[in-house]
Amino acid sequence: MTDKFIKGSNNNIIYVTSCCTNRCIMCCQPPLDEDDSTYHYKRNINLIDTADPETDYVCITGGEPTLSGDLLFDYMHRIWDKMPNSSIHLLTNGRSFANANYVEKFTKEANGKLFVGIPLHSDNYADHDVIAGAKGSFYATLKGLHNLGILGFEIELRVIILKQNYKRLDKIAEFITRNLPFVAQVSFMGLEVIGYAEKNYSKVWMDSECFTINLARAIDILDNSHIQTRIFNIPHCLLPTALWPFACKSISEWKKTNLGICSNCSMIDECCGLFSTSKRYSANLKPIIR
Ligand code: SF4
Ligand code: SF4
Repeated sequence: MTDKFIKGSNNNIIYVTSCCTNRCIMCCQPPLDEDDSTYHYKRNINLIDTADPETDYVCITGGEPTLSGDLLFDYMHRIWDKMPNSSIHLLTNGRSFANANYVEKFTKEANGKLFVGIPLHSDNYADHDVIAGAKGSFYATLKGLHNLGILGFEIELRVIILKQNYKRLDKIAEFITRNLPFVAQVSFMGLEVIGYAEKNYSKVWMDSECFTINLARAIDILDNSHIQTRIFNIPHCLLPTALWPFACKSISEWKKTNLGICSNCSMIDECCGLFSTSKRYSANLKPIIR
């Protein structure tokens, strides 16, 4: 994380709490049981107070930010007061939004530009709940998505590609087009191998050569339904060229790295790079010579 918010940067992050209602098998920042939201508050307030008023992007993340109660709303108001044109990207597991009272309060407080990112791990409750490590999370997340969708919030669905769901990427895409057509964007995401993802590596890791055909099918389905689709955290050399237009430079500068082989690659400026925090990388990385 940066020590200062910077205009035009996508590294402006407010880390709210380490608590979470899920225990995802690939969580890169494993949740804590102890509430540390007041510990993070002082640093976060300083970040907001010293920000350039022209800052246009702030990500609020955790843990599960909604568990910090009114502190989340305090952050949102302070961000929009200090940086009126700033868009907040709120990363949440979505479950709190299943509660009608919470949604009502959130709607009153959320009076600025907001994009809500919510992970959907599968098209069925059994797989989703196993990946999220929380029974009932699929239906709670879906209810939360619908409550936010009805109220017109802009939503990004995040599908992290794992051994548990890579065969069903096309089914997940079909599920989204039928049940969640109101979402603004679907982001398919490569894994950051740290935290539980490192601990559970052999259980969760799936190399791209096994999922790109299914990923292409999924993107085709969403594209045909006019749902914006993006690929995050998967370098160009691991994707077929047909998927390159969907691949984003998604990894924040402060945690991005390249390997020695990358210096000979013609796509180094377009590629998302690699997580410097990851403990392992794909064995299929190779420079693209054009
Ligand atoms: S919802 Fe996010 S923070 Fe919570 S356990 Fe899952 S990956 Fe970790
Ligand atoms: S070789 Fe390196 S720079 Fe080139 S696409 Fe792969 S990860 Fe990116």
